[in-house]
Amino acid sequence: MPGLYLHIPFCKSKCVYCGFYSTVNQKDMEKYLTALDTEMVLRKDETAGDKIRTLYFGGGTPSLLQPAQLQHILDNIHRNYTINPNAEITIEANPEQLTSEHCKSLKSLGFNRISIGIQSFHDDILQFLGRKHTAKEAMQAVENAHAAGFDNISIDLIYGVNERDNTLWQKELDIAFGLPVKHFSAYALTVEENSLLYRRIHQHRDVEPDEDLASVQYKILSEAVTNSRFEQYEISNFAVKGWESKHNSAYWHSVPYIGLGASAHSFDGEHRSWNAPTLSGYFAQIERRKPCHERETLTDIDKHNEFILLRLRTASGIDLQEMEGLFGAVQVKSLLCYFSSEVPDEHYIRTPDRLHLTAQGLWFADGIASGAFLTNE
Ligand code: SF4
Repeated sequence: MPGLYLHIPFCKSKCVYCGFYSTVNQKDMEKYLTALDTEMVLRKDETAGDKIRTLYFGGGTPSLLQPAQLQHILDNIHRNYTINPNAEITIEANPEQLTSEHCKSLKSLGFNRISIGIQSFHDDILQFLGRKHTAKEAMQAVENAHAAGFDNISIDLIYGVNERDNTLWQKELDIAFGLPVKHFSAYALTVEENSLLYRRIHQHRDVEPDEDLASVQYKILSEAVTNSRFEQYEISNFAVKGWESKHNSAYWHSVPYIGLGASAHSFDGEHRSWNAPTLSGYFAQIERRKPCHERETLTDIDKHNEFILLRLRTASGIDLQEMEGLFGAVQVKSLLCYFSSEVPDEHYIRTPDRLHLTAQGLWFADGIASGAFLTNE
């Protein structure tokens, strides 16, 4: 069963591309941790006794928390939920917090996976993105985590940044592949509506990221991965075989999860719900003892469309037998018919059991999936 996600919505500063809810004002940190304690108690029965298989501290910047604060949260999780002894326990971290000492603390607290927000190994690009670390600190952070005993290290990278040409992107990939990491995520730079970048573009102080550049750099990435120890297992995720993120893989396979904290989302198989998206809203929600801010019940059409969308983003794609069991033979037939008539041959592979997109096709995954959506009409 479920994954447990904890959102820590505090950051040192705001990165230009970031559209997530986070605040640089840390004065409410303690109040927030108390609210999290209350929410855990409020929602402890939602797992129905099932063991938590993956625990994920995301943000924001969870590595801003002191070891004692993390210990407090972990103690409370163990008090309210049963954690599988082999659970994958991840913390997201920014390089500037990953001193050797902090890495050792995180390891001794029980985290067994660390996901480091590196984004680039080039100082000019880091500066453009509004990151607070340098390329040297990024590499040092990985070394510190590795030396502290983390085998399962993931890093995040961003491509499609106008300031970085293809040669530099290839060089950055070479640096990443040479580090002791088992996993990396690579995202194309996008302009989120509530981001600083969005405002800058609208004030004509910056220009839109070049979509063609992102597409070429995705191709460079796919080719580089083919000759590396990594495999692409989702449009933006790459791992050494056996080191895929269990927590994120569960999202893509519609496994239920509980999301705690401001703006966190939850899914129980039938409903999607989410917490209030701001600190003040979250505090009010928890004071009123409300287990969520809003909740929607998935219709059969929603379930079908989510299944198509999420599975087509993964390299393993759609298990046709599973789809038939969930949605019936007619839907499978209609999906196959759509692919054979409208999706270019080089974008997908059909085997007797599965339908999956090629690396080239994954770039168009959302558009291809939307062509197979059911509607109410
Ligand atoms: S990208 Fe991460 S570190 Fe940067 S502001 Fe957003 S949540 Fe914070």
